[in-house]
Amino acid sequence: MASEKDAALAAVPSDSPTIFDKIIKKEIPANIVYEDDKVLAFRDIAPQAPVHIVIIPKVKDGLTGISKAEEKHYEILGRLLYTSKLVAKQEGLEDGFRLVINDGPKGCQSVYHLHIHLLGGRQMNWPPG
Ligand code: C5P
Repeated sequence: MASEKDAALAAVPSDSPTIFDKIIKKEIPANIVYEDDKVLAFRDIAPQAPVHIVIIPKVKDGLTGISKAEEKHYEILGRLLYTSKLVAKQEGLEDGFRLVINDGPKGCQSVYHLHIHLLGGRQMNWPPG
């Protein structure tokens, strides 16, 4: 199975629909832990920590990644961060957690639909790989 880095290097940055659109439309299964009208959060299929959740906007609106953010995205960006905190609390991560946004090939991004990784349940290290 290809590594996450291989997947990121093979991914073609584009605004086309991604696997996350299928998860949003419930066309493929996902372990959803939070949902409201704007945001969806589900357990990562290849967890890198005991708790690994992906938090996404339901409408991409050009946000293939954080590098494409514009002023019009202020509200959804704030909601994504705030939801990350809500989900961390829901998951009982009182002792700490990490939020990650991968961007572009060198940032190891493999899915071009903006998402925040919420990682927790173990001691994190620094620097990340
Ligand atoms: O930051 P990056 O683009 O690499 O993250 C995409 C994440 O989406 C990966 O961690 C991958 O495991 C996850 N994923 C998932 N369910 C899918 C497809 C990808 O949780 N069906």
